[in-house]
Amino acid sequence: MASWDQIVVGAGTSALTFMHAAFHGSQKAKFVHNETLVIGKGGGQLWAKVARYSGDHRMGQPEHLLRPSGLPPDPKLQGGHKQFIKTSDYNEMLDQLHDKIITDRAEERPPLFMLEANVTGIYPEGAWYRVTTDVGGEHSAKQVIVAGGAGKGQTLASLKVPMEGDDKDSVAGSGEYLDSVDYMAAAQPRGLKVLVYGGSASSSWAVAHAFAMGATHVLWGCRRGLAQITTEGNPVGRNSAVIEKAKTSGMIYTCEIEKITVLDGKKPFEGRLRVKFKGGATPELKDPIDFDQIVYSVGADPIEELGPGGILKGDLPDRMTPVWDNNYRFAQPSERKVITALRDGQGDLWVVGAAVFRGLGIQKIKDKLNEGGTNFYAKVGEVLCAGGRPPEGIAIIDATVNALTGFRQTDVNNFNWNKANRRDIFQVLAKVYQVDIPLSVREKLVDDIIDARTKTDFGISQLQVEQLMGVLKKKYKLDIDLGKLPGVYQGPEDD
Ligand SMILES: Cc1cc2nc3c(=O)[nH]c(=O)nc-3n(C[C@H](O)[C@H](O)[C@H](O)COP(=O)(O)OP(=O)(O)OC[C@H]3O[C@@H](n4cnc5c(N)ncnc54)[C@H](O)[C@@H]3O)c2cc1C
Repeated sequence: MASWDQIVVGAGTSALTFMHAAFHGSQKAKFVHNETLVIGKGGGQLWAKVARYSGDHRMGQPEHLLRPSGLPPDPKLQGGHKQFIKTSDYNEMLDQLHDKIITDRAEERPPLFMLEANVTGIYPEGAWYRVTTDVGGEHSAKQVIVAGGAGKGQTLASLKVPMEGDDKDSVAGSGEYLDSVDYMAAAQPRGLKVLVYGGSASSSWAVAHAFAMGATHVLWGCRRGLAQITTEGNPVGRNSAVIEKAKTSGMIYTCEIEKITVLDGKKPFEGRLRVKFKGGATPELKDPIDFDQIVYSVGADPIEELGPGGILKGDLPDRMTPVWDNNYRFAQPSERKVITALRDGQGDLWVVGAAVFRGLGIQKIKDKLNEGGTNFYAKVGEVLCAGGRPPEGIAIIDATVNALTGFRQTDVNNFNWNKANRRDIFQVLAKVYQVDIPLSVREKLVDDIIDARTKTDFGISQLQVEQLMGVLKKKYKLDIDLGKLPGVYQGPEDD
């Protein structure tokens, strides 16, 4: 069995964000070890694939909310302040981050070791962890970082939707019945009648993909209808156009699937998936409807066999506890704290990024995440603009990983006002204006800046920061040179 100081599980946004922030953060001693093995299959692929099949498909936010902290802005990858960046550009940013991690480490530590595989189990063994993979072999490590995402999409079977018919086994792998991520990562036959089932941002991506693939008929079914889609579907983002188009063409229905019957004798993509909706559905859905393809997007399943909860073995699920942030990054010291990660209370295992969402599927953790009706994970988003707020989004991953690792924005020239946390803003003002701003006023400025950006959809542009600081300068009677204001060009103002 090979031994390592550290194993990182995952190779997507969360894992890359963690590896970069851990290396440069104030908690470096806690998180950076000599021999690190990264186990995962490249996470950027999804974005590259979606871009390939749907060239103008874009992310839900502009560049300044998605660019990983610490990565210098690349003018080639910037749209306007309010333009949603292309999936291919986001993919390029992940590639750049990957390369930077390799270069940064090579200067100080042994190289990273990478294994293209999935972790199938993490077992506690005294002060160590034993890690198994689907390519065989075992590894052990003193520290494990689980950064492999929220888990695969759950199927409709997990919602207890029955599938009937003698031919039902032939549906698996036929491309007629599939998860939205698999759907978007491939070209689809044209001219199909498609049911997209789910009310999240991913389902609206699937609807956009259906349009791009030339579906002749799309029905967007969702258990809480438009109300769900317009809240969970990240409506201020790029999805708003998809939601609007679906709304005006009368495609969105509030409905619940009762059962799916696979019709005998029909070939794949010949409308053989007969869907019966539960009673109380709108008149148009009273009779069963035959579809060529059903695309489901009903949430991640963290306890599926490769999911972040599924790979924790032995008593690890019972040992997991929340990691609280309690020092002015997201809230005033007097306010309620936020959860930035989960950790093994007895050993050195950490769960970071999107893997924290849904409490790993462990009820005890879910209860802690939602104590008193507050989602302490989602609370991170309360200091961001609306576009950065969806609790499962990339801006939240970045914010929590930075807090956990003590990674700070210190680059005055490239300061990102929309992703900086309270402490970053507080300290950058001190760096630039030194004693020109009294301490108590500096705190007020932080509050005012945070307050201004939370009221926007996509954050404040550099021009708006300058205007705001002009107002605050007068309000607090400050003698400061606004020409020294930190910041970076964010593309045309475009409004
Ligand atoms: C279609 C879609 C569109 C989205 N659009 C946006 C958007 O526009 N803006 C936004 O902010 N957020 C968006 N999100 C959410 C965002 O993608 C996620 O929050 C983010 O990708 C999560 O990053 P992650 O690294 O935690 O997980 P992932 O991106 O899922 O990456 C996880 C990585 O870990 C690997 N892995 C998983 N399990 C294991 C295992 N057991 N062993 C080893 N490796 C493993 C996977 O192969 C993958 O490489 C979108 C999500 C989807 C699905």
